Amino acid sequence: MRFVLCTILVVLSTLPATQSAQAPVIDCHQHLFSPAAAALVTGNPNSPGISARNLIELLDSAGIQRALVLSMAYTWGKASRAPVANEYEHVKAENDWTAQQVAQYPDRLRAFCSFNPLKSYALEELERCSKNPQLHYGLKLHFGNSDVDLDNPTDVAKVKKVFEAANGYHMPIVVHLHTSIDNRRKYGADEARVFLNELLAAVPDVQVQIAHLAGSGGYDSATDSALGVFTDAIARHDARMKNVWFDATVVVRPSMSPDDLQRIAARIRQIGVKRVLYGSDAPASPVLYPKAGWAAFQRLPLTTEELRVVATNIPPYMRDFAVR
Ligand SMILES: [Zn+2]
Repeated sequence: MRFVLCTILVVLSTLPATQSAQAPVIDCHQHLFSPAAAALVTGNPNSPGISARNLIELLDSAGIQRALVLSMAYTWGKASRAPVANEYEHVKAENDWTAQQVAQYPDRLRAFCSFNPLKSYALEELERCSKNPQLHYGLKLHFGNSDVDLDNPTDVAKVKKVFEAANGYHMPIVVHLHTSIDNRRKYGADEARVFLNELLAAVPDVQVQIAHLAGSGGYDSATDSALGVFTDAIARHDARMKNVWFDATVVVRPSMSPDDLQRIAARIRQIGVKRVLYGSDAPASPVLYPKAGWAAFQRLPLTTEELRVVATNIPPYMRDFAVR
């Protein structure tokens, strides 16, 4: 009996006070960086990058089983950085490197392919990914990094072609919807409406995950206006929202006031906790590690049951993993 009690005390004392017992089953927003991509992004030519092995260690320390790895290939076509020579070759190499990394952990990691959807090679790369056993699972687009201007009909038409093609290949889409901050693009309810009417309407057959609760990390009034368009659509049972999920990746910041946290929790309830996914983002520093990210998310004034639902949500594209 004494032994049993001691064991229980040891178990309880190893649970950090800020961490619930139920860690997320899946981290739905992760990234790996090849050494070349890390050098490009950081400017440090000796950057080691972030490998699948690095990520697995961090997931293990957070008690998270699986992660959706969003390829960083799009950053080779980043709009606000000077163009690189042989850009498309780098895009292919980054997608292929990411595929090789996740293939080492088939029961833990799954990758989505990526590229800048405004580039001339966009449809060619999507077709190539659709035939790759590791990359055919889905597509990640980053409207901010790629400078997709949702107020520009030419940009919207190009992205619509990519969406229609992804729908044809049955590839789900994760989208960082928030437009470019570097290029000071407008963002809010009007741009969210363009996404709903022009782009979501083009993908009736695939799941769509809107990253960062329709923002870009943190939570401001522009993000809240954009998200309001989607919560209104959900409230009126708009059919275009039926396959839409939201990840709450790096939405909670350490400096946030209780009012901010209340506002985010209220929006999460309007979305419905069953459609909200946990994500950590790239583990570029300890505050972004999955364990810290889940602790931050739990600062939201959600009930234990609501947190449990978010932690156990599994979107269709993260099912049917290999069993070792
Ligand atoms: Zn991300």
